Amino acid sequence: MERLLNMSNRSGPTILLDLQKADLRVDELTSIRENLIEREEIKKLNKRIKELRKEIENLYQKKHSTELDQKRINDEISILTVKIKREEEKLYSGRITNPKELEGINKEVIFLKLKMDKKETKILELMEEIDENLKVIQLKEKELDGNLSEITTKELNLTQREKEIDEEMFKLTDRRNNSISHLDPEILKEYESLREEKGGRVVAVLEDGICNCCNMQLPSIKVDSMRDPNIFYHCNFCERILILP
Ligand SMILES: [Zn+2]
Repeated sequence: MERLLNMSNRSGPTILLDLQKADLRVDELTSIRENLIEREEIKKLNKRIKELRKEIENLYQKKHSTELDQKRINDEISILTVKIKREEEKLYSGRITNPKELEGINKEVIFLKLKMDKKETKILELMEEIDENLKVIQLKEKELDGNLSEITTKELNLTQREKEIDEEMFKLTDRRNNSISHLDPEILKEYESLREEKGGRVVAVLEDGICNCCNMQLPSIKVDSMRDPNIFYHCNFCERILILP
């Protein structure tokens, strides 16, 4: 048996539809607020910023370690320079006359110079490495700056959009409270328990004998009986509250 609820005044259906309109908009705004695109974008940007900071830190560490290598090799070159100078002095001093000894020193000088060449080549390679490293650091720092300014904009946009939604929600709460204060408590209870059970739209309007929520054609005997605008009926099919247009 259908439970019929009598309305206290003739404006009941309009109030109920208004209440539903406010509630549906609140549902919609809640979902919009939860899924604001900026939030996801900020999350992605934060992740990238974290990655970039780590990458830049690693690059600076690499640069520092290359500079240490460079310094160590430069020190070795200084030592080699002194050694070569000393050996060459011996070679050309005229103090050593033994050809075998002279040849030995000469070989030593050639060996030291080869060693020196290798170290000088290494120094050039390390300088290039540092240059490359600096170029990458500059690019990453530029990207980081870009991301930082982008995230600031996104955060401002997000705050702005949340503020707009909250303001609308606030107005809707006012509208909702106003509707409730004019609604029969029993109808409100029915409406709220249906909302809890079904969610979304729970008040349907009968249009040409059709429930405008589930789109089912109601039996004509029922349609004919629905004449009293002060009574809330229920749809035979979806059980939603059915009101006359
Ligand atoms: Zn229905």
